[in-house]
Amino acid sequence: MNDTSGVGGAGSIVEIDVVIVGAGPVGLFAVFELGLLDIKCALVDILDKPGGQCAELYPEKPIYDIPGYPIVTGQGLVEKLMEQIAPFHPTFHLGQMVESLARQPDGRFRLTTDAGTTFLCKVVVVAAGGGSFQPKRPPVPGIEAYEGTSVFYAVRRMEDYRGHDLLIVGGGDSALDWTLNLQPLAKSLTLLHRRDDFRAAPDSVNKMRALVAEGKIKLALGQVSGLKGEGGKVTHATVKDKDGKESDLATTRILPFFGLTMKLGPVANWGLNLEENLIPVDTAKFESSEKGIFAIGDINTYPGKLKLILCGFHEAALMAQAAVHIVFPEKKIVFQYTTSSSSLQKKLGVI
Ligand SMILES: Cc1cc2nc3c(=O)[nH]c(=O)nc-3n(C[C@H](O)[C@H](O)[C@H](O)COP(=O)(O)OP(=O)(O)OC[C@H]3O[C@@H](n4cnc5c(N)ncnc54)[C@H](O)[C@@H]3O)c2cc1C
Repeated sequence: MNDTSGVGGAGSIVEIDVVIVGAGPVGLFAVFELGLLDIKCALVDILDKPGGQCAELYPEKPIYDIPGYPIVTGQGLVEKLMEQIAPFHPTFHLGQMVESLARQPDGRFRLTTDAGTTFLCKVVVVAAGGGSFQPKRPPVPGIEAYEGTSVFYAVRRMEDYRGHDLLIVGGGDSALDWTLNLQPLAKSLTLLHRRDDFRAAPDSVNKMRALVAEGKIKLALGQVSGLKGEGGKVTHATVKDKDGKESDLATTRILPFFGLTMKLGPVANWGLNLEENLIPVDTAKFESSEKGIFAIGDINTYPGKLKLILCGFHEAALMAQAAVHIVFPEKKIVFQYTTSSSSLQKKLGVI
């Protein structure tokens, strides 16, 4: 899913006040604090949905330490944050990784993503959490030679799989969801998993088994031990079964879904001071070593830092009070409460 806003598609230039790198809970709440100050935001996330760790790692787990919510699930919190920031109409640019960040001669920042979107903005808020979620590479010798040509770790365009002999590897939700979604397009589809036991949602597993029973897909048990092909084009995957017996399976596209790991990723190349892969900030503004680049949430460090969502929310509030002086240098800022300010209530659309 790219550019859910419908603006700023791949290849375009988006001019905006603030770009928030990371749409985790803290990046989302930053939209609210900046929005109260009339600051427009674009959010970019490598994931195809907002919510960061809450949505990706523990959507159904209860959280007990969000102020005002005795209990809320990871996904429940993300939904409430999305509702809270809706009045400010942030643009979401999902399924994209911010790769480069550099200051322009006019003082603004230029950010580019791996999907070809360019942003020009006055302030950057790095809310990149533990870094970018990146797919785990399966331990198959020589797999690198086929990555991006025959082996893919995410489905960007379903059409790219039409008419292919598709091999999907894994037993979680991604593997099962894509098995169900791509089956109608593929010439043939084999789902390969180590054992006949799946972590995915039971409904998806039942649907997959029904397709196997109808002869529309094949289910194979084992692991990929090697790949055969030439010039990046795979022709066969060697599959080892539980008894160690190997056989070749004809395939032209392979989708391994072995989960995600968090790596700092491109943030390391942006010229910011780093301490053990975290961005040191001052606790008055949550600004990094570079004026105009702020860091909030799990990605930052300062004496006493706690990697808690509520701490990230506090950091977002203070960051916004500092960022507004960069976005609107001439404007006099008067601190106001949402309970009593009719101007803030108008922005929120409640009066
Ligand atoms: C199992 C578990 C349970 C937890 N329970 C609690 C709890 O009970 N209470 C609590 O307060 N906290 C809890 N936490 C911690 C909490 O989830 C984190 O503190 C919180 O998610 C941090 O939010 P964030 O927005 O800073 O970062 P994240 O949630 O990590 O989001 C960062 C986002 O940035 C994106 N990103 C990174 N780099 C780039 C890039 N270059 N381009 C584009 N996007 C990028 C990532 O894809 C990610 O979506 C828990 C964590 C885990 C794993």
